[in-house]
Amino acid sequence: MTAAKTRFAPSPTGLIHIGNARTALFSALAGESFLLRIEDTDGERSRHEFVEELLQDLRWLGLHWDEGPDSADPDPQWFQSQRGALYAGYYAALAEQGRAYPCYCSATELEVSRKVQLASGKPPRYSGKCAQLSAGEGARLAAEGRQPTLRFRVPRGETVRFEDGVRGTQTFRSDDIGDFIVRRADGSAAFFFCNAIDDALMGVTQVVRGEDHLANTPRQILVLEALGLPVPAYAHTALILGDDGTPLSKRNGSRSLGQLRGEGYLPIALLNMMARLGHHYESEVLLDFAGLKAGFAIAHLGKSPARFDPAHLLHWQSLAIRAAGDRTLTDWLRTETRVLVPAARMADFLDLVRSNCLFPGEADAWARILFTDEPLALEPAAADAARQAGEGFFLAAIDAAEQAGADGDRFLAVLRQATGAKGKALFMPLRAALTGRHDGPELGFLYRTLDAQRLHRRLAEFTYPSR
Ligand code: GLU
Ligand code: ZN
Repeated sequence: MTAAKTRFAPSPTGLIHIGNARTALFSALAGESFLLRIEDTDGERSRHEFVEELLQDLRWLGLHWDEGPDSADPDPQWFQSQRGALYAGYYAALAEQGRAYPCYCSATELEVSRKVQLASGKPPRYSGKCAQLSAGEGARLAAEGRQPTLRFRVPRGETVRFEDGVRGTQTFRSDDIGDFIVRRADGSAAFFFCNAIDDALMGVTQVVRGEDHLANTPRQILVLEALGLPVPAYAHTALILGDDGTPLSKRNGSRSLGQLRGEGYLPIALLNMMARLGHHYESEVLLDFAGLKAGFAIAHLGKSPARFDPAHLLHWQSLAIRAAGDRTLTDWLRTETRVLVPAARMADFLDLVRSNCLFPGEADAWARILFTDEPLALEPAAADAARQAGEGFFLAAIDAAEQAGADGDRFLAVLRQATGAKGKALFMPLRAALTGRHDGPELGFLYRTLDAQRLHRRLAEFTYPSR
């Protein structure tokens, strides 16, 4: 088998969200080489900002493309809007062989025909009205100023068959397929056409895309065969559903990559979550891209819809934060958090983050607790623990701290001895006074990290009976 070449071919008409990011990921994992093509022939809906965002999102995710925008090879053009001249040759070839013809039907005519077919219970299909237009009739319509589309003439009575990598053998009757548009009236290339032609011209051997494109595939195969171009292998991935069982959308939890990045998800967490959304991995540990690739096979893609569970994303986020290197984690912190943490304490602080935080906001809250005098927000469970311990406990703690100096173990030993408290009864009230919380980093860490005066002040707060 030759090395698979795959591609991601987004239309820059919106943001990348979990659904199309997963398509990009599967394509990148499936290919020995991977290319990125921008399908921007719909001039009205395509926007340059979306292209920028798209490139940024893919880079952030770590999906590297071997060919595509900004790659070393600027030619051929990776933007379909720049490939019109190339497409023109193929339109001419189709027309010459009688495999395509101009269609002068107006949008209104087509709409009426569609409604009539639907009303009589038939699937709407182009009627074939212009298929037999004589040159004279065509010229007359053109003289009226009508701009024709170009339609592909679908052969009658044939069967189109292909092996889908996920869904097995697929068979379509050509009689069920109406003649379809390959060039729009404004001269721009239609999806069925340029998407297929470019896969062939760019040497793509394996297409991985959503099952919403399954029904397009026989049309694309017909076009490629008519032009004598190679047909890639196809794998159509099952839909993603939200928690409510309907297709994943903004309403049930889908978010754009930009949003997820803004919320503080690490790319590796997303990659691990998405790779397992409809694809089976033996390994349940956090894998890097190479690991994900090594365990990936089209044969492991599931046929039934995959369900996106936000809890899975949190699970991978927690593994990703735990595994993150110092540099990654420092970059991930908010700028204002970085400023709060003294350089000498940063390594310790990052360890705290690894075991206690999922999001930058949580890390920021810890930095404020440890390194500022902002008033602590006292959690109810913590307040209870402090109340139960009573002011005598905190007076003893102040004494113990004075005796122990920087030695945290000594501090705890002295306090235990003085009060008889141990285990939870010792730790909970201290945690409460020092952080306002009932859980978090171990006490030794807190003792070491808090400035001595701050520690004293926080203990002293609880020595007034009014608390
Ligand atoms: N531009 C198409 C889309 O975004 C590409 C479909 C395909 O992958 O073939 O849906
Ligand atoms: Zn027509």
